[in-house]
Order: sequence, then C-alpha cells, then structure tokens
Amino acid sequence: MRVANWHIYHVRIPLKKTIRHASHTRKATDSLIVRCTLDTGQTGWGEGLPREYVTGENIDAAFAMLRELPNSATLHASFENEREAVRTASNWDIVRPSNAVRACYGNSARCAMELAFLDAIFREVGRPLSELPAMTNSLVEHPKIRKRVRYSGAITAESAKKQLQQAVKMRLFGFHQVKVKVGVSEIDDATSLKTIRRIVGRKVDLRIDANEAWQCSDVVRNVERLSSSGITSVEQPVPHSDVVGLSKIRPQLSVPIMLDESLCHREDAVRAYNEGLCDLFNIRLSKCGGILPSLELKQMAVNFGLGFQLGCQVGETGILSAAGRHIACAIEPIRYLEGSYDRFLVKEPLTKENLTFGYGGRARAINRPGLGVIVDEAALSRVTIREHSQTVH
Ligand SMILES: [Mg+2]
Repeated sequence: MRVANWHIYHVRIPLKKTIRHASHTRKATDSLIVRCTLDTGQTGWGEGLPREYVTGENIDAAFAMLRELPNSATLHASFENEREAVRTASNWDIVRPSNAVRACYGNSARCAMELAFLDAIFREVGRPLSELPAMTNSLVEHPKIRKRVRYSGAITAESAKKQLQQAVKMRLFGFHQVKVKVGVSEIDDATSLKTIRRIVGRKVDLRIDANEAWQCSDVVRNVERLSSSGITSVEQPVPHSDVVGLSKIRPQLSVPIMLDESLCHREDAVRAYNEGLCDLFNIRLSKCGGILPSLELKQMAVNFGLGFQLGCQVGETGILSAAGRHIACAIEPIRYLEGSYDRFLVKEPLTKENLTFGYGGRARAINRPGLGVIVDEAALSRVTIREHSQTVH
C-alpha cells in the first residue's frame, strides 16, 4: 500500500450558535479537511482546526503547509501492513517556518493529514481505529475497547443569564460532568457558579476553564472564591506566556490545575512536569497534531503520574468526533471526556452518521473499519472555500 493522492479542502463550518470564552468568540470555524487515497483506491478522511492563538498557524498558513507536505519523501513510502504504516506516521514531522515560536506550530495540519492516512489504512485492512492505541504500546497484549463512553457538558460564557439557561439544560440532559467557562469580565463568576451548582445539583462534577484570562497574581484568590461551589479542576488559568508562574501557585491551590493552551507538544509536557506546572493535561487531537502525538502525550501524563482529559475543539465535524470516540474507547484513565457535540453545535457535521452523544452524554463505540464514517460529499462541497489536489507519483 502507498498513498496515491492527497486532496485538501479549506472549509467553513457554520455553528448553530455563537460560542464565547475568555479568549475568543465564534459563529463559524475555518477548518482543514483532507482526503487521502491509497493506490488500492481506498480513501480516508482527516480534519484539523487551526487556532492561531493556540498553536500559531491560521487557516491560510495551515492550508499552505498541507500543499507543501505531500512533497516530503517520507509520505511516499509503501507499507506492507498497518503496523508499518503507523510506525512511519509516528515519525512524520512537519516542516515549520523558521519564525515559528512553538514546536506545536502547524499541529492542525499534521492532524488532518495523519487522520486521513490512518483512516485509509485501517479501512483497507478492515480494522477500526480504536485498535490503534494498543498497537503503539507493546505492553498491552489484549486491548480492552470500551463499548460506551460518557461525555461531559460545557457551559460557555455569553452572559450570566445564558449560563443559567445552559445549566438547566445540563441538568435536564443528565450530564455527570460539566465544565464552565470563566474569566469574562461581564460575568461575576462566583455568583454564576453558585447558581449553576444549585441548578445541576451536588452530585455533578463541576470544573472551570479560564482560557488564559487571569494574571498569576490573581489565580489563588479567584480559584479560592470559586472553590466553595465545589470544583474539581481549573483549566489554563493564565496566558501561555505566564505559565511558568504556576509552579509557585500550584502548592497554594486546593484545586488541580489543567494545562490546555500550554500543552500542545511533547516539549510542553516535559516542561510542565519538570517545572511542576500542572496536575492534568488537556489532550485534543487537532491541537496536539493528531492521534499518534496525542497518544504519546497521554503516555507521558501516565508516566509522570498526572491525569488527563481528552478534549475537543469547537466546530469539530463528525470526522474528528469519530476519531475522538475511537480513542476515548481505547485509552484510560480519562479524567474528563469532551466532544461529539455535532448536531447541537455544527450546521454541517459532514458525516452521514450522527455521532452526537445521547442522554447523559452517553455514546457507543464505533466498530466499523477506519474512522467508520461516510463523508457526505454534497455537504462538503457546500462548505468548501478552496481546495487543492496532489497526485503522488
Ligand atoms: Mg480549554
């Protein structure tokens, strides 16, 4: 097997509502979709969501990177079997511009490409992608694939009133975990969180995400004010540029710290551990460069004695939802799981299958080969802004 063609799409996925957190407000998301065709005719699909304020690349830069990538010789190799293909893909590194500040630059492009490749290969050999994680860990002989997973709910930060309405929905929908976005100036987080707690009840696991909104000097006071509402973690309290300050703050906090914007690459993970910056990693496939780098980060978290969340990005279509589901069913111990918002959030989920979670955030494993989804090409053409095709000779 070898890759015969890469087809790259820049798509604009409209959202059903405006999503706001402390560092961004959006009504649509510009994403990359990649179709990989093997010489056998088999195809696979991938997706990446560039976030300039997280990994550095915007949609134009990411699209340009993907246009260049298929020229790389490592992508032209042929593979005897899926193990060989996975080994090769785990060594893919993307060529970053010399002015890229962080090693994670371009991760969304890498994710889209890797996912399309792995989907095609696993489809070809008839194995679901949930069997991949065990292949990267020689210690696991008989992988356990969970039949079901449970996603967490999220309350965004449009206004205090909307937060309360969302809390009522969370309660009615039976979520066991809920994340609340904090740090937006118009909302008094302490008051809002108290009301949210009253609405969702005592048993729900509540956590907060500040999306880099606070300064180091305010973190202890802010978190302690909110901790009376019973929160189990605080995500990315300070900007990435100030993250070093968390090593002093962490011992003073009664609530575990999760890194998100500051955890995109193995380099970040090593630093976080060495400097004692956090208790949890937020691993998201697109932000972290795809399934294989994400699995590496997960293993690092386990080796470091830290916990992790498997997260998602706003506006993911059914392609990334499927990828997240396969991984969620195959790895442990996931502290919190996010994703599969599909039909609650995106107007064009792009897949024929509906992967949206059900009551309580519950969802089933996908047992079909590869990602196990069929991309609706009519829907894809409705959202395509530009595309580029490259045959590999
Ligand atoms: Mg976050």
